[in-house]
Amino acid sequence: MNLKSPNDMDADGAVYKTLLESTKAIPWRIDWNTMEFSYIGPQIEGVLGWAPHSWMTVDDWADRMHPDDRERVVNFCVAQSQAGIDHEADYRALTKDGGYVWIRDVVHVVRKSNGEVDALVGFMFDISERKETEEAVTRLQKELEDLSYKDGLTGVANRRMFDSLLDKEWASARRTIQPISLIMMDIDFFKEFNDHYGHIAGDDCLRRVGRVLEKVAARPRDFVARFGGEEFALILPETDARSADQVAEKCRQMIYDEMIPHDSSSVSPFLTISLGVGTVIPTKADLPKAFIESVDRRLYKAKQRGRNCVQFAQQENV
Ligand code: GH3
Ligand code: MG
Ligand code: MG
Repeated sequence: MNLKSPNDMDADGAVYKTLLESTKAIPWRIDWNTMEFSYIGPQIEGVLGWAPHSWMTVDDWADRMHPDDRERVVNFCVAQSQAGIDHEADYRALTKDGGYVWIRDVVHVVRKSNGEVDALVGFMFDISERKETEEAVTRLQKELEDLSYKDGLTGVANRRMFDSLLDKEWASARRTIQPISLIMMDIDFFKEFNDHYGHIAGDDCLRRVGRVLEKVAARPRDFVARFGGEEFALILPETDARSADQVAEKCRQMIYDEMIPHDSSSVSPFLTISLGVGTVIPTKADLPKAFIESVDRRLYKAKQRGRNCVQFAQQENV
């Protein structure tokens, strides 16, 4: 390593050196012919723990990089340097005690008067804090996205998510010529439930119903949403009428098995739901909205038939 001592420098050089070594950024220089460090700022030791004299060649730089970053960063920097292009790269640098620090390396390619590359000079910046902030922001964004698609009360998907997912599955069913089924359900005499047990108990009850329905939606693409007030919907992609009817009956049974007391219901001492089921292999002429309406009519039919029952997809059209 060819680290210049202040004695080798003229007065200006000494000033530059003082300036360089008092910034937070870590300056360095690599000789292009030998690929050796001819200089690295002493600040490096404070950031990574490795003393300046231990930075001998570019291999030391590459070796002290997180294995997941190494190939990408080294290939990029070598290609840019060979092409004579100034560049920058973010990577995790290994510290002497085995940790990692996020570094942004900003590189300038120095050319000789004949145009050949002479050296690389640059600054390393400790960007850990910025990375942490970035990661926190990404986490928050994800959380926010989840929240805007989640029903705040029950935690299941909200109506907005239901609409967008139904559109997606509808298009997929059309493309693959597969049946798609929809179950719409509504709690029986829920107004009376609220009147009798209070709104807070009503909210708890809705959460409980959401949890039970999530359990019934067992396949990876099955999808539960709170459609509105005390109405829930279950989208069942690639599911024919017979299977959808079975799932609906299971929903009805499992809600009943919870045995949530409902003293003011005139159909049962426990909380019950009514359900409508529909299945379609969508064609160009069909629209999700009309399909939802047809399933909703079946739900209404189940209410008329006395509640706590399913108007099955395999039953005649209503
Ligand atoms: P039906 O058997 O015909 O469905 O009778 P119902 O009383 O369930 O039907 P209705 O649509 O008349 O009443 C729905 C009730 O659901 C009214 C409303 O107070 C209640 N509800 C809607 N959203 C919420 C909610 O977020 N929390 C609570 N606690 N109650 C809700
Ligand atoms: Mg309702
Ligand atoms: Mg109801």
